[in-house]
Amino acid sequence: MLTCDLTEAWAQFIEFAKKHCSPTAFGNWISPIRVLEGNGEEMVLEVPNVFVQEYLLTNYKKDLCAFLPTKAEGEPAIRFVIAQQPKKAPLPRPIQAAEPSPAAAPYQLHLNANYRFDTFIEGSANQFVKSAAFGVATRPGQSYNPLFIHGGVGLGKTHILHSIGHEAARHNKKLRIQCITTEAFINDLVDSLKNKSIDRMKRFYRSDVDVLLVDDIQFLQNRLNFEEEFCHTFETLINQNKQIVITSDKPPSQLKLSERMIARMEWGLVTHMGMPELETRVAILQYKAEQKGLSIPANIAFFIAEHIQNNVRQLEGAVNRLSAHCRLMSLDVTEELVQNCLREMLHHMPSHKITVEQILKSVAAVFQVRVSDIKGSNRTKDIVLPRQVAMYLAKEMINESLMMLGISFGKTHSTILHAWKNIDERLTNDEMLRRQVGMVRRSIVA
Ligand code: ADP
Ligand code: MG
Repeated sequence: MLTCDLTEAWAQFIEFAKKHCSPTAFGNWISPIRVLEGNGEEMVLEVPNVFVQEYLLTNYKKDLCAFLPTKAEGEPAIRFVIAQQPKKAPLPRPIQAAEPSPAAAPYQLHLNANYRFDTFIEGSANQFVKSAAFGVATRPGQSYNPLFIHGGVGLGKTHILHSIGHEAARHNKKLRIQCITTEAFINDLVDSLKNKSIDRMKRFYRSDVDVLLVDDIQFLQNRLNFEEEFCHTFETLINQNKQIVITSDKPPSQLKLSERMIARMEWGLVTHMGMPELETRVAILQYKAEQKGLSIPANIAFFIAEHIQNNVRQLEGAVNRLSAHCRLMSLDVTEELVQNCLREMLHHMPSHKITVEQILKSVAAVFQVRVSDIKGSNRTKDIVLPRQVAMYLAKEMINESLMMLGISFGKTHSTILHAWKNIDERLTNDEMLRRQVGMVRRSIVA
């Protein structure tokens, strides 16, 4: 490549990056970079701070090497220069209780008005989290600190986090509450580094906040510099008995963070948010439908809740879709409408009736055992697992009573139920099993 082409190559890289990251990421990380020199042997780039440089190299090194010449050691031929000019930026202002939050700060996560304790439907999978959260909201800094909430996507973690914000504000109007996503915290840090206002930012987080609500801490993984800063903030607040609540998609021990950070997060109470069981899913569905002025007959609500099993957000999506459809076409919610309207959202909605024999064959194939072994009474681990999976799937996929299913397996209905519960529980943590069950399902539906 000709050296004078560097500026042009950089422009091409920019176009590439624009297509490969979100507009926010682009705005925060890529667009502040300036070309100082583009016609020598190497590109000289001005970055507002070392984090932008780190971001660029961590995320785009390979691509940069494709667009720009490389140095002998395989690095892109770039020299970074840190920009000097200071700029003033307003500091984040915490949400004061019952006051409309300031609109200007882009990093500030406003509390979602719908995410309140009274709009959160309880069931056995989330009851404990909800009461711990409520305790923290009414007695911040005095019960569990930090409160750490983990669980899969779309199960209500953010909902609970914002509920704490609302409730704490309602309880004590003087509390200074800051609710922020981890990404926003990082952006905030970057901004204040850029604007040379890092000390003010540190002061803000360490002494102007009474309740700090942090969403999605998993985004702190692999962000070493930010992790350290967060850890300091965390310790300072906790030492002053300020309340911290953190959400995450994994428990602390499974996060790729420093031991120190993990230990800190385990200081207080670590709670798990699970997928609501069928009855609660039905209640959520009916509640959301009611909010939309849509009436869903009970049997149909059960039908939908039985088929949407891993994500409350999807349940909401189903209600929204049904509601739009019914309004447009002036239709009532019937089973047929649900089948047509939600077909691709519903798991394994088979067009033909599935038999226990089919399930046994598929399970045997995926787990590499014999159908006769599954049907038999051998209790070794290698056989018990596929046997329980077969019972689990029979209960999930065949619309028969437990008693009838029990008869097909030559077992009692409580054996089927026990197997179902066991597998259902294991599926939340066992990725391998999830895949195997997925394979069986697909092979049956296909
Ligand atoms: P997460 O943060 O765990 O990914 P969210 O809090 O964003 O999930 O929840 C996804 C959607 O599902 C939100 O609209 C939320 O209001 C709703 N939701 C989740 N759980 C419940 C519940 N138990 N009751 C009512 N709505 C819920
Ligand atoms: Mg969330």
